[in-house]
Amino acid sequence: MGKHTGFMEYPKKNVPYRDANERLNDFNEIFTEPDGEHLKLQGARCMDCGVPFCQSATGCPIDNLIPEWNDLIYRGRWREALDRLHKTNNFPEFTGRTCPAPCEGACVLGITDPAVTIKNIENAIIDRGFAEGWVKQEIPTTRSGKQIAVIGSGPCGLTAADQLNKVGHTVTVYERADRIGGLLLYGIPNMKLDKAVVSRRIELMRGAGIDFVTNADVGKETDVKNLMGEFDALLLATGATVPRDLVIPGRELKGIHFAMEFLTENTRSLLNSELKDELYINAKDKKVIVIGGGDTGADCIGTALRHGCNSVVNFELLSEPPAERATDNPWPDWPKIFRTEYSHSEAKARFGSDPRNYSVVTKAFLDDGAGNIGGLSTVRVDWSHKGGQQELVEIPGSEEHWEADLVLLAMGFLGPEGYLPEAIGVELDNRSNYRAKHGDFQTTVPGVFAAGDCRRGQSLVVWAINEGRGAARAMDEYLSGHSTLPAPGMTMGTAANL
Ligand SMILES: Cc1cc2nc3c(=O)[nH]c(=O)nc-3n(C[C@H](O)[C@H](O)[C@H](O)COP(=O)(O)OP(=O)(O)OC[C@H]3O[C@@H](n4cnc5c(N)ncnc54)[C@H](O)[C@@H]3O)c2cc1C
Ligand code: SF4
Repeated sequence: MGKHTGFMEYPKKNVPYRDANERLNDFNEIFTEPDGEHLKLQGARCMDCGVPFCQSATGCPIDNLIPEWNDLIYRGRWREALDRLHKTNNFPEFTGRTCPAPCEGACVLGITDPAVTIKNIENAIIDRGFAEGWVKQEIPTTRSGKQIAVIGSGPCGLTAADQLNKVGHTVTVYERADRIGGLLLYGIPNMKLDKAVVSRRIELMRGAGIDFVTNADVGKETDVKNLMGEFDALLLATGATVPRDLVIPGRELKGIHFAMEFLTENTRSLLNSELKDELYINAKDKKVIVIGGGDTGADCIGTALRHGCNSVVNFELLSEPPAERATDNPWPDWPKIFRTEYSHSEAKARFGSDPRNYSVVTKAFLDDGAGNIGGLSTVRVDWSHKGGQQELVEIPGSEEHWEADLVLLAMGFLGPEGYLPEAIGVELDNRSNYRAKHGDFQTTVPGVFAAGDCRRGQSLVVWAINEGRGAARAMDEYLSGHSTLPAPGMTMGTAANL
């Protein structure tokens, strides 16, 4: 433990984001550089409480050794902190930027005081590691002779590839998009995760011997049966890519898009031409309505604002969460409280108010008279409790009309697409995800494994890393009869989250 009285002496201070009005002018990362003294004092707030709920139970899904690196940062031993961090996390630069930090929700100090700023410290350790040149490609000394195909290059596929390569298997990652990274690249926008940060890691992995094949749509142009013949094992890490639609009157109107269409095209155009090719859905001067909260909705708001939209409104079906934990949401569970994301503050900075409207149901998309979206009609709902169940009740007389000329649907995802499981003959579960148990990750076809959002449903980067590490161990055992790779989230109670 760094400083016994640190948690009493130093208040919590997050590393601030760049000023909202300034960052709205570009797609650069929203973060500022933390200074070493700031982090040292924040690390000193860790109480080394004996039972670190932050790294287990409902905390970090990959069991990051949080109290250890907090202490090392307090003592200025950055290199050792980096080594401890890499023991459990293949890609701290991704989680350090994007993770909602369930660890902080489970921090023991958080029972009485603001939690330790764990995520900031994680990000600073890995950024310093890269800046100092400490992060190197790890080329295995021997090869097992086993060949593995990973299908999908999101955080799950990348983690599994990294782990399997470390123990000497030869890994090829197939990706249907034109670039590697899955939602790290074409989902999460540049301001939250700079794409140079993603490609920096891919280049290290390439240097360590992993092959990447882009524009390879497995199950369509790339024959999966051929891959099953060529490789000793396959990992399906294809994500949850079927978006939930809103099938109501007027859905056919022009100007209604799925969020991923909007976000993917924006990032592709940004990377290809800094948006000069105009091959993206432009929100400039538009009245934008985003339907659905969550990360995806927040990223649509941030992107529309950077285009220079005329207005932005966000609808959420659920009711507004409370400011503090409710009695049925005690520590150390994930706090279901009202949070303000980066793009909500940006909307407030530009237009003077938070864009979110809770308990809203969209009833119809309205025509502008020329086949384009012109507006939406909605009603407010009440979430009443009946017989222990929450029930949605429309409030009479709450009908409203909203003007819109661009609507973005960000209502979540329904699982992986059907053509690949059909081509392989693997079974899906009753939520239309790949049927495979956390722990062995084996699908119903021998030698074919599944992990990440395509197995567990739409989730988080840190859970994709958990599943990638777990699947790598299961595949290593399948191929070698035993494995020295760690199995995250298997021992410390994280099973509660599965
Ligand atoms: C807009 C958005 C913002 C998000 N923000 C956050 C955040 O801030 N923090 C957080 O923790 N999580 C966030 N998430 C969730 C997080 O990105 C996902 O949980 C995570 O990326 C899942 O990883 P994965 O590897 O399982 O799948 P994905 O990242 O979805 O990767 C799957 C890959 O498989 C490829 N693929 C699919 N089918 C085939 C095929 N047949 N052949 C070849 N390739 C194929 C896809 O093209 C894709 O590249 C966000 C999600 C979205 C949509
Ligand atoms: S990966 Fe997420 S949960 Fe784990 S320590 Fe980092 S911020 Fe916390």
